[in-house]
Amino acid sequence: TRACNSALTPRPWGVTDLSSALGCHAVTVLGQKSVTDAKRSVFKGISTDSRTMAPDMVFLALAGDRFDGHGFIPGLAEKGVSAFVVSQGYLDTLDLNQKRRMDKGRICFFEVPDTRVALGHLARYHRMRSNARIAALTGSNGKTSIRKMAQNIFCRHHDTLATRGNLNNEIGLPLTLLRLADIHEWAVVEMGMSHPGEIARLTAIARPDIAMVTNTHGSHMEGVGSLENVARAKAEIFKGLTPGGTAIIFADDPRRDILIQGAKESTDTANIMLFGTRPDSDVRLSEISVTDHGIAFFLAMDGPPRHYTVPSPAPFMAFNAAAAAALAKAAGIDKTDITRGLDAFVPVQGRMQIRHLANGLHLIDDTYNANPRSVDQALKVLNHLAGSNRGIAVLGDMLELGDQSRRHHRQVGHLVAALSPAKLLLFGTQVAQIREGALEKGYPKARITMGSKKELGETLKTSTKHENWILLKGSRGMAMETLIPILEEIP
Ligand code: ATP
Ligand code: MG
Repeated sequence: TRACNSALTPRPWGVTDLSSALGCHAVTVLGQKSVTDAKRSVFKGISTDSRTMAPDMVFLALAGDRFDGHGFIPGLAEKGVSAFVVSQGYLDTLDLNQKRRMDKGRICFFEVPDTRVALGHLARYHRMRSNARIAALTGSNGKTSIRKMAQNIFCRHHDTLATRGNLNNEIGLPLTLLRLADIHEWAVVEMGMSHPGEIARLTAIARPDIAMVTNTHGSHMEGVGSLENVARAKAEIFKGLTPGGTAIIFADDPRRDILIQGAKESTDTANIMLFGTRPDSDVRLSEISVTDHGIAFFLAMDGPPRHYTVPSPAPFMAFNAAAAAALAKAAGIDKTDITRGLDAFVPVQGRMQIRHLANGLHLIDDTYNANPRSVDQALKVLNHLAGSNRGIAVLGDMLELGDQSRRHHRQVGHLVAALSPAKLLLFGTQVAQIREGALEKGYPKARITMGSKKELGETLKTSTKHENWILLKGSRGMAMETLIPILEEIP
């Protein structure tokens, strides 16, 4: 069996590795250039979390909104930690007593202009000295689902590292890469963004051999603006490709030309691969249908199409499966392994998960997160599974939509009116616009409940006498899953 995203010991860090990666020499607490007498000269790894620090690791102090990691340094030094990456000027903030105490331990410091950037430098150095090849993906939706599917496929024959949870930003991506061990042959990593320029920074750290943009819908609009700009910002991922690298693009993306242009602008792109339903797709998807067992579809990759089923009712899972297959194909993985890996896929908790409760209720649990596109999809799935004029849609606010928020919520209201579920339950403040939008298009006021979770719980108790399909969805901050116990308690 192969290592599949398990915890392995990365190659140790020598003081010279740290100096090369960070571009600075180690200094003592007194600021003198001396490393020869450092207590240790080899470290097991880099950590930014004071709680999980071991004495044989290097502590990198990050300054967040609530905590400044620098504050933990004296305490960690007392516990035997002997190497720190700190912001320039940190040593000047220590008084003589503190310095004296730390000097005893012969501790070394690497002073850098920005510790967050330094974390990226360490990750990039570690990535470059590893033998692993990297497959990176970004996009508005589906990153985590595709990464999970790809991981299932890659792990069949390769020791594979992958992003954990949602560790996909400026801090999460470096921490992911720093977990690379010598045994790893592949890493499948996610990159998330909330500003233009962010993906460019991440791809320069990861230097992927394969880079994919899953799609460019309208999530995280804040700070980027138009969908064209979303596409341009995501296409930055191709800038980091290693020579001979493969760019993978969603063939059906309305902004695919911008993405293809982006891939061509990167001189290191050797191949461009497409996945989707369009005839020019290298991994071609067809005949998508929703069945009781999940989404069924055909995939063709140089050969006749083969039938697949993914145990999730969401049509987008078919696209995500095609995306994962494309990543694997680009990595040279055998078709049989792609098939077996996809067949073994189980959706992630809270992401379009069908749950049949003991009391006979059918739950579409999509409480993990929400954006306009995914709410749209989820409402259509509810309509499909419950039947028209049936089903209960329980929606919370879609957060992080900036000045587009009112418009997007109102449009969800329009779709609700068109699909006409039996009940519309709303929790939050932005959802008032969903209500307005629904009423505007003639959805009956009597079928709407807007209120606290307790009030929604009461409505659910009475409504489920007639309806047994329930969609639960909202942004992460709305924690819509807290309604699940109420549903489970219904007799
Ligand atoms: P996040 O940025 O919130 O971490 P993500 O890109 O990792 O999201 P997933 O976690 O895989 O995406 O899916 C989140 C939600 O996005 C799903 O529950 C679904 O509603 C929607 N979604 C997933 N894949 C697609 C897709 N290919 N097209 C449209 N919507 C999708
Ligand atoms: Mg994710």
